[in-house]
Amino acid sequence: MSWIWPTYIHRDLPLTGQQRKAIHRDAWKLWWANRRNITLYLTLPALYLLTVFFVSDMAGRLATIISAGGFTHKLFRAAAPFALFVICFVVGGAVLQRSRFAPCVYQATRRHGYDVCAKCGYWLKGLCEDSRRCPECGMQREAMPPPGAP
Ligand SMILES: [Zn+2]
Repeated sequence: MSWIWPTYIHRDLPLTGQQRKAIHRDAWKLWWANRRNITLYLTLPALYLLTVFFVSDMAGRLATIISAGGFTHKLFRAAAPFALFVICFVVGGAVLQRSRFAPCVYQATRRHGYDVCAKCGYWLKGLCEDSRRCPECGMQREAMPPPGAP
């Protein structure tokens, strides 16, 4: 399941299910605090609704352009709304989760006292303080927030 809806919490972290839930709650709060996220996420259903009524016609026209007739033409028209759905919600959703939600989870994890990379979520435990970069992605390490920070 986690490959469909990843949690973005490093799986080696010694967290109880309840702590994981708390981290996700905090991550959603961080996500919600940045209003741009809401706009970005709303573009997906908006894009879908704006195009879903035309997408079959567009696909039909495309089929005509590449001079596909008969069955292929019908297939294009039938598959178009489905492809649009997948692009908007499956691909678009995954990209947005990865780029907008995952960093919130990493931030929330750090606030719970675990030193994970702010960019990729790699657990930086055991790395000496003077290694300044994440070994996974090369991101500059950030100082840990003080315990109990909001
Ligand atoms: Zn990293």
